[in-house]
Amino acid sequence: MGRELTAEVAVVGGGASGLVAALALAQSGADVVLFAPSGSPDTRTTALLHGSVRTLEALGVWPALVPHAAPLSRLRLIDATHRLIRAPEVLFDAAELDLDAFGYNIENNVLQRVLRIAVPGNPAIRVVEAAVSGVACEDHAVILHTGETEERVQLAVGADGRKSICRRAAGIMMRQREFPQVALTMNLRHPRPHENVSTEFHTETGPFTLVPLKGARSSLVCVVDPKEANRLREMDAAALALEIERRAHSILGRMEIDGPRGSFPLSIETADRMGARRIALVGEAAHLLPPIGAQGLNLGIRDAATIAELVADARREGQDIGANSLLDAYEARRRPDVRNRAMAVELMNRSLLSDFLPVHAARGFGLELASRFGFLRRALMREGLGPREGDAPRLARGERL
Ligand SMILES: Cc1cc2nc3c(=O)[nH]c(=O)nc-3n(C[C@H](O)[C@H](O)[C@H](O)COP(=O)(O)OP(=O)(O)OC[C@H]3O[C@@H](n4cnc5c(N)ncnc54)[C@H](O)[C@@H]3O)c2cc1C
Repeated sequence: MGRELTAEVAVVGGGASGLVAALALAQSGADVVLFAPSGSPDTRTTALLHGSVRTLEALGVWPALVPHAAPLSRLRLIDATHRLIRAPEVLFDAAELDLDAFGYNIENNVLQRVLRIAVPGNPAIRVVEAAVSGVACEDHAVILHTGETEERVQLAVGADGRKSICRRAAGIMMRQREFPQVALTMNLRHPRPHENVSTEFHTETGPFTLVPLKGARSSLVCVVDPKEANRLREMDAAALALEIERRAHSILGRMEIDGPRGSFPLSIETADRMGARRIALVGEAAHLLPPIGAQGLNLGIRDAATIAELVADARREGQDIGANSLLDAYEARRRPDVRNRAMAVELMNRSLLSDFLPVHAARGFGLELASRFGFLRRALMREGLGPREGDAPRLARGERL
C-alpha cells in the first residue's frame, strides 16, 4: 500500500469553490488538508442562487454573510437592441415561486473573507498557505508537493481554477469556445433605490446587467466587443459614470463608480471529465462560463456539495474515497448540470450576437410567451435556479451530510 497517508482528502485552491469544498468535505467526516495560497483581491460580485444559499446555511457560514448580502427578489429583462424584432420586457418575480428571493448578491472579497475565517476554525481542516507545485497520481494515493511540504491523500479535489495543475495531473483535457466579447465589471453608487430588482438590458454586443448590492449600490456586468471594452476601460471615472448612466437609461439616476474596474474575456470551457486518477475537479478547474445568468460559482458550489456527499457515503460504507467508481458517480451526477448550463448560457449569448432575423423572432416570441404565461415564467425561473430538488446535492436541499 506504500507510505502512510497524511490526510484523507486534499483540496487544492483557496477560491470560493475550494473553500466551500473544504468545509463540505470536513462535514463528510474526512480529514482535509487545504492548499490555499493568498490570492489577489477579487473585485467581482456573485449572485448566489437559492441552492447555494442553502448549502452555505448547511455549512454554518450563511449567518456571517447575511449582513453583506442583497436579496434578488425580481429580475427584469429589457430588450435594448435596435433591431427590427424586439422582445417585450419580462419581469420574473421570486414570489411566483413562493420564494423571498432568487438568491443574494455579495461581493467576492467578502465571501472569500468569511469563508477563509470559517475554514481554519474547523478542526477537520489543516490549511497549508502555499501553492501546489507538483501532483503525482499513484494506484493508492495522490502525492502533492509544495516547495517545502509533501502530502499523501486518497483523493485530491482540484479547485485550482482555469489553469488547474490538478486537471493536468489527471490527464483531463478542456474544450474551449471563445466569444468576441469582454465583460467589464465595476460597482456603482446611485441615488435611486434598486428595490432588490436586477435589471438586464439585452444589447447587440451582449447583456448589460445591474445587480443589487447592499444599500444604494449595484454591481455591473457590461458585455461589449473588445474594442469597445478598451475604450470604456480608458475613460476617466466621470465620463465612464455618465456613459454607464446612459446605457442604464438612467433607471437608477446618476451613477458614481465605486472601486476598481475588472475586465474578463468571454469563453466557455468544459473539462472532458469531472475527475480521473484519484482527482476530482470542482469550480473553474472543471468549467468556465461567461457571466450570463449567474451560473459559474453556483455550479462550483454544487460540485463541492456533490463530491462531499459521495465521500460521506463512501466513508460510511468503508469504501475507498478515491476509487474510480466514486469518480464515475461524480461524473454521472455533475455532467448533465454542467452541460445544460453551458448550453443555455451559449444559446442566450449567441441569440443576442446573431444578425439572423429568425433568431431574433424566436427569442422575441419566447420572451413574449414568458411575459404572458405564468406557468412558462415559473418553469424558466425554476430552470434558472438550478437542478430540480431531487437532483440537487443534499447540502443544497438544506440537509446535512
Ligand atoms: C464578471 C463575472 C461575474 C460573475 N458573476 C457570477 C455570479 O453572479 N454568480 C456565479 O455563480 N458566478 C459568477 N461568476 C463566476 C465566478 O466568479 C467563478 O465561477 C468563481 O469565481 C470561480 O471560483 P473558483 O474557486 O472555482 O476559481 P478561482 O476563483 O479562480 O480560484 C482558484 C484558486 O486556486 C488557487 N490556485 C491556483 N493554482 C493553485 C495551485 N497550484 N496550488 C494551490 N492553489 C492554487 C488560486 O490562487 C485561486 O485562489 C462570474 C464571473 C465573472 C468573470
